[in-house]
Formats: sequence, C-alpha cells, structure tokens
Amino acid sequence: MISVLDSALLATQQAVYEHAVQPVLLAFGEMRLAELAYDATEWPVIGVLEFAVMVPLMMALERAFPVEAVHDRRAVITDMLYALLHRIGVFPVLAFLLLTPVFDSIEGLMRLGGFSRPDLDALWPGLTDRPLVSFLMYLIVLDFVDYWIHRGQHAWRWWWELHAVHHSQRQMTFWSDERNHLFDDLLRDAILAVVALLIGVAPGQFVWLVVASRVIQQWQHANLRLRLPGPIRHLIVGPEFHRRHHGIGVGHEGRAQGVNFGVLFPWWDQCFGTVDWRDGFVPTGIRDQLHGREYGRGLLAQHWFALRRILNPGFTGR
Ligand SMILES: [Zn+2]
Ligand SMILES: [Zn+2]
Repeated sequence: MISVLDSALLATQQAVYEHAVQPVLLAFGEMRLAELAYDATEWPVIGVLEFAVMVPLMMALERAFPVEAVHDRRAVITDMLYALLHRIGVFPVLAFLLLTPVFDSIEGLMRLGGFSRPDLDALWPGLTDRPLVSFLMYLIVLDFVDYWIHRGQHAWRWWWELHAVHHSQRQMTFWSDERNHLFDDLLRDAILAVVALLIGVAPGQFVWLVVASRVIQQWQHANLRLRLPGPIRHLIVGPEFHRRHHGIGVGHEGRAQGVNFGVLFPWWDQCFGTVDWRDGFVPTGIRDQLHGREYGRGLLAQHWFALRRILNPGFTGR
C-alpha cells in the first residue's frame, strides 16, 4: 500500500518539479539549487494530494451532519488561508529550509559521537519489522510525544499564547486543524522530527506518519455531529472528544489547564488523568473571548496579537 502511495507521490513530485519549479530556476539561472528545490517540493505536493481527497469528503460530511450552522464565514475563510499556507504554501518550504540544516548537524554530531540510534524495528524480529507493525509503533511513540507537547502548549504561558491562536476559533470546521501560529508549528514540527530521527524512523516512513496524523486531525476538527461507537471512541480521538478540548472554559482550564490533549489516541489522557468523556458538542473558544478579549480576525493580526500577549499579559487586542 505504502509503496503504491510512494510511487504516486514520486511521479507527482517529479511532474510538478519539471513543469513548475525547474523552468523558474532556469529563468533565473539558479540550477545550482535544483536538488534543494526538488526536495522542497515534496511537502506542498503532499498537501495538494491530501486536499484533493479530504476537502470533498469533509465538505460532504459537514453538510450532512453539522454540529451548528456556519455563522462566521470570514473566520472560516481565515482558517482556509492557514490550511493553504501550512499545507501547500510557504510554511512547509520555510520549515524544510530552516529545519534541514538543523537535522543534518544533529545527524553529523550523532555520527561523530558514535551514537547509534535505537532501532525500534528490530525489537522483535519477525513482528516489529513488518511494515504495518513498525508504522503503528512509530505512530504511537510520536503521538505520545505529541500528547506531552500539547500539555506544554497549555502549561507554559508563552506557549499557550501561541497555541491560543488555535483555540480562539469559535466556529470550528475541518479547516481549523491548521489554524496555528507559525512559531508554534515550527517548534512542534522540530520536536517531532528530532524524536523521529532519534528513534530511527526512515524519512520515507516519516512522510506517511505525518500524513496519517494530519488526515485524522483534520477530521477531528470538523463541524461534524459524529459520536463514535463505544469501543472505537476509546481507540481513536474523534470530533466529539477533540471538540471538548476546544470547549469554552472546559478545554483550557482546571488542574492541567485543559482536558483531552490526546492528538490521535485518547489513551494518554486516560493514563495521565486528563480525560473528559462527557457527551455533547460544546461551544468552542476561550473564556475571555466572552469578556471582550480579541485574538485577531485575520491571520496577520492573530500572529501579531499572540506576540503582544507574550510581552504584555494584559493585552486585550483592543
Ligand atoms: Zn490545545
Ligand atoms: Zn484542535
């Protein structure tokens, strides 16, 4: 399955590079950047393929089973802009250009220090080296790390101010998944990629781990009145579970500064006492929005306001 997807991805990447990127490099006489440019086209191509599958599917589902009618179209359009920038726009290219040299140096240091990374595939020969088992194993390990990243996003005030951009959406749709501050995203991506590097995830496998995670997260944010049946809702995070994490006064307050932090699997919340299984599709947002605090209407304002709140906790956006 993965090899079929790999071939489709490679063919699309090659076509996009040859027809869109290479002519630009030739026109500017910058063919020395050819290899870098070819690699940098991978994530935007994946983003387009994801959208081609997910957008029609999620739009049909949201139309058929909505939690609420869309009343703030402009907020949804802002989320679309985030999604486009994060998946196929400048953000993945920027992340690639910024993070690649960091990873190359880490790998170089690891080689110099004689550090050999643990190879999780080799834990139980015959079982853990099977492609599906190893894929699930890495998905679970990375999701565990993601759970703790998410706890950090709520626990530290500076990080919360960045993450609040994600929580300030009061009209959630499947587009809301990528509504994240650029710095918040870069930090999370960097931590996950370093962990993946340290536990021995192959680059070709990492791509599909990220795709699986993103597809599931997009579905969780949908304006979708979907209650997963009993056993399944304990296996994977669905729209109802994640909506409670976005609930006003529910998902960002209390002892752990929130509930239902699990990104893909709810087990971590169950293990660490942060789970909230109550039923219901609660209103979303941050409590102080009810008291007039503004988190910004457009993408630029949301980014700028987050930095202002970090420097000045009393900043109300007004
Ligand atoms: Zn959160
Ligand atoms: Zn969310």
